[in-house]
Amino acid sequence: MDFCEKCGSILVSKEEKNKIILYCKKCGFKTKDYKPLEISENVEKKPLDDVVVIEENEESLPKTKVVCPKCGNMEAAWWLQQTRSIDEAPTLFLRCLKCRHSWREYG
Ligand SMILES: [Zn+2]
Ligand SMILES: [Zn+2]
Repeated sequence: MDFCEKCGSILVSKEEKNKIILYCKKCGFKTKDYKPLEISENVEKKPLDDVVVIEENEESLPKTKVVCPKCGNMEAAWWLQQTRSIDEAPTLFLRCLKCRHSWREYG
């Protein structure tokens, strides 16, 4: 906790001009540049990959033992799908046999 240099009151933080400063409610004293706001790094926003919904019946798909991230079921159907350029390896998709949640497996 920080205290006002002038009057000893507890300083409160507030945002001002993209910075967090501390200021004293009692006398109005402010610190300068207390700390910069955490600027979120330029997180590359990856476009959300559309989960391909297949109409195929899971019955015709091969099954594998894998834990569904959604319901914890231990078996899912899987299939491979070419998603982007032909140069890339096809993506493995999985679909839970219990809750039908679909997800992709990253290599
Ligand atoms: Zn003060
Ligand atoms: Zn599931």
